[in-house]
Amino acid sequence: MHTLKKHGLRETTFRKLLLNNFEQAKHALNLEELRSKLPEDTDRITLYRTLQSFEQSGLIHSIPDTEGNKKYALCLDPCDTHGHNHSHAHFTCQKCQTTWCLDHWALPPLNDNRISAIATADLIVTGTCAQCAA
Ligand SMILES: [Zn+2]
Ligand SMILES: [Zn+2]
Ligand SMILES: [Zn+2]
Repeated sequence: MHTLKKHGLRETTFRKLLLNNFEQAKHALNLEELRSKLPEDTDRITLYRTLQSFEQSGLIHSIPDTEGNKKYALCLDPCDTHGHNHSHAHFTCQKCQTTWCLDHWALPPLNDNRISAIATADLIVTGTCAQCAA
């Protein structure tokens, strides 16, 4: 269970609503999808800032999409205000653009002595999802 308090965020109605949307989502959400799930009067800037604070506190992480925009998904790993602790790939369907975390697919260790430290690893696997193939 994710709670705002555990991630150092004060509980507000909007934050609770947004977190709830992420907990119910089966795939990563972009800004448009989020806006369609939120009340119509939701302010763009408020949404953007809240997403930033969620990301900074380890509640959600962002995934770049093919157009350079961001999608957001709940962190299933023990991420907190000190940072994110995951390196997993993401799948994006080329037909319906649905993206989800490939948490069950462990990335092999990267043994390359030219690299001293990895900050981010955004591996995106693209293809066709089962629904689009049916
Ligand atoms: Zn995370
Ligand atoms: Zn698809
Ligand atoms: Zn992910």
